[in-house]
Amino acid sequence: MSNIFADIIDRKIPADIVYEDELCLAFKDVNPQAPVHILLVPKKEIVSIATVEPEDKEVLGHLLVKAREIAEQAGVTEGGYRLVINTNADSGQSVFHLHIHILGGKRMGWPPWAN
Ligand code: AMP
Repeated sequence: MSNIFADIIDRKIPADIVYEDELCLAFKDVNPQAPVHILLVPKKEIVSIATVEPEDKEVLGHLLVKAREIAEQAGVTEGGYRLVINTNADSGQSVFHLHIHILGGKRMGWPPWAN
């Protein structure tokens, strides 16, 4: 199934890539909502958290370990950051290839819909 993040992984469209390994790719969000806004995606075409399978355990764990490293690299660990995984329509998911938003560099509100 084709989607814009698969096209970025395949280098069919450009992105500002900040990290890559055999299981995942991280690149800057084109419409940043915070000073640091990076998207971390598995290379495997997983549609969303709603479709993950037990066999995806390794890649999901890998993504969280890499999110930690990417946040450190981006300099937001001490100040704090937020990982967001939008899932289906009510959350606002717009790209149906699993992705973790890594957001930092500003004070964020809670709950998230209050900004
Ligand atoms: P979501 O709404 O959780 O599905 O998030 C999709 C995110 O992808 C949004 O924050 C968009 O700004 C971002 N986005 C869409 N197209 C691109 C692109 N070509 N390069 C980087 N980020 C993108």
